[in-house]
Amino acid sequence: MLTIQDYAAVTGQDVINHLWQLAQPIQGMKVVHVNSTRIGGGVAEILTKLVPLKKELGIDARWEVIAGNDRFYECTKNFHNGLQGKEVPLSDTLLAAYEEVNKDNAEEMRSVLEEADIVFIHDPQPLPLLEWCPNRKGKWIWRCHIDLSHPHRPVWKYLRKYVLGYDASIFSLPDFAQSLPHNLYLVAPSIDPLSEKNMDLDAKEVLKTQLQFGIDPERPMVLQVSRFDRFKDPVGVIQAYRLAKTFVPSLQLVLAGGGATDDPEGEAVLSQVRAVAHDDPDLYILLLAPDAHRTINALQRAADIVIQKSVREGFGLTVTEGLWKAKPVIGGNTGGIRLQVLNHHTGFLVSTPEGAALRIRYLLKRPEKIYEMGRKAREFVRENFLITRQLKEHLSLMVFLGI
Ligand code: UDP
Repeated sequence: MLTIQDYAAVTGQDVINHLWQLAQPIQGMKVVHVNSTRIGGGVAEILTKLVPLKKELGIDARWEVIAGNDRFYECTKNFHNGLQGKEVPLSDTLLAAYEEVNKDNAEEMRSVLEEADIVFIHDPQPLPLLEWCPNRKGKWIWRCHIDLSHPHRPVWKYLRKYVLGYDASIFSLPDFAQSLPHNLYLVAPSIDPLSEKNMDLDAKEVLKTQLQFGIDPERPMVLQVSRFDRFKDPVGVIQAYRLAKTFVPSLQLVLAGGGATDDPEGEAVLSQVRAVAHDDPDLYILLLAPDAHRTINALQRAADIVIQKSVREGFGLTVTEGLWKAKPVIGGNTGGIRLQVLNHHTGFLVSTPEGAALRIRYLLKRPEKIYEMGRKAREFVRENFLITRQLKEHLSLMVFLGI
């Protein structure tokens, strides 16, 4: 089990001291986080880290998970898609299931929620809990991890009436927020530098991973780690690689993503990618297990350049992960990638395969630039996108709300 002090090796002791200082006035504060799953997905991932770290700092932090049923999950999946802009149906039966599940869960956790000084409700699944806690003592915050910039209106209209009862909302990026009549806060996502995905690996392990997949460690390699999703533009990445290869014939491309068997669209994208890749011996399509964090870590370290040529993106954690491995990232000029790829400094923002190819060629001809940008990239993540920064922002908010 990691402790806060372990992070000092990465962030410096000052950051850790600052966390203790911030926590000092709110030690003993009762804080409850509520979401709808303990494993799987980014929210669970972050709570797995944040809640124990808050506890270690003396905060009485708890993590509660609401239990649903099939109709509830069907409804909240529609919410998720609808909030991201898809036209989805809202049937009365599903909405009744959503409300009923929240009512039942409120019965179970009412005393914990009503007693809490601060309750963080993550995403739309547990939003109506507030209605069933009439004697709440503390402040309730809606923590939205979803891009709400272009929601399907009927879905947002329905959910907004629950959000209005909250004291504040938190979004990941300014572009993701909706206007609401209470305070809005911004907390960007982060990575854990000590997790298997991001911890330092020795050169032997990196080499072993390359050899395991038949990647030639002596030749240049560009990498995109992504689900096989059209918005991640894997075909555009292949086009960029082919254009760049005319100038750098030894170039290799690795597209690493999860097995897409339970996602019909993922399967279709993967087939298309395979067809476009044809039998290119320098193009590696790797289907990795969901827990292949160390393999992804090693591939990111083995790459000369990391690509994330998305045409639409939320935050883009793969960008942070690549930057943290001291790699310049060539990223699509969209969403959270724009916050991370500082054009010409930590990488390049591109809009077309041609643009990406130009930047690949530019960098591979200038190893000193790769080194220089990579160094800046790692420092940029150290300053801005590590879990300690996210924890600091949570503590600041809790201090502010607790006064
Ligand atoms: N990831 C993974 N295995 C895969 C593909 C992606 O572990 O096969 C990880 C990746 O390293 C990153 C996250 O899943 O941590 C993807 O987050 P991101 O914000 O980049 O994209 P999303 O998939 O949420 O759109």
